[in-house]
Amino acid sequence: MSNERSMTRAAEIVVPQGMDEQAARDDYGSPAHVQRLAEHVRALLEELRLDFGDPNLRDTDQRVAKMYLEMFHGLREGARPRITTFPNEENYRAMVMERDIPFYSMCSHHLVPFYGHAHIAYVPGDRIVGLSKLPRILEFYAKRPQLQERLTEQVVTFLEEELEPLGAMVVIQARHLCVEMRGVKKAGAQTVTSAIRGIFHERPIREEFLDLLRKA
Ligand SMILES: [Zn+2]
Repeated sequence: MSNERSMTRAAEIVVPQGMDEQAARDDYGSPAHVQRLAEHVRALLEELRLDFGDPNLRDTDQRVAKMYLEMFHGLREGARPRITTFPNEENYRAMVMERDIPFYSMCSHHLVPFYGHAHIAYVPGDRIVGLSKLPRILEFYAKRPQLQERLTEQVVTFLEEELEPLGAMVVIQARHLCVEMRGVKKAGAQTVTSAIRGIFHERPIREEFLDLLRKA
């Protein structure tokens, strides 16, 4: 797999051996699936020598199993969000921007949260998308084990491929708990990533994007 492909291709569930794809999808999130997952969580907690006499830990295995399924629900939906686009009948050619979109994701390397805000903009070509769909695209790619760089690329690549805009730009600012709670412990540090396509390579349009971001 080339590097570029691994940056933009979204993961989806892997079909376990001995199951066909439909069975794997039907099983995903089922009570039996939650139960199996909870058993593994319990084994992990036991190996960490936690005290199951603590009543707060009694159902933790079940809660954690359900929580992971919720946080990774994008995996079940598949590798690509289903988003309806429309013809640009008004021939709108100015920048469309949705800023300060909050998101929560989980870092692929440590399975702890990273979270923050995204700013998504595009200049339409022949197709447009409903404004509420920009957060939906972000959410879709955030709800799976992720890297901030890859999340940024996946959102901009989706816009590029589905809308064929004149250009698109995505900026994500996030805090990573794997950085803040362990290792170098840089509390409050923000990681900023950006990805640009088309006319956003030109400085004036990038400045327009940044001007819109600076406005209160
Ligand atoms: Zn991490």
